[in-house]
Amino acid sequence: MTVAIRTRPGGERTDSHNASVNKELAEAGLCGMTHLATGRVCVRPARHSGSCDFRTREEAERLLARRESAAASTR
Ligand SMILES: [Zn+2]
Repeated sequence: MTVAIRTRPGGERTDSHNASVNKELAEAGLCGMTHLATGRVCVRPARHSGSCDFRTREEAERLLARRESAAASTR
């Protein structure tokens, strides 16, 4: 039996460009684009349409925690 194994060196996203992306947010399925000048991160879904919605790190972390607790309660 043949199983296709896709190797991703370092677990990097294949769609990542030169832009800085917050890994934590990206792994949670969010855009995670980081605005370098302010250090704010985009909390919209990955590959969203339109422009990024940059929030502070605290806000992003709170949002992440809320997502995780919501996902846990639905299962
Ligand atoms: Zn974005």
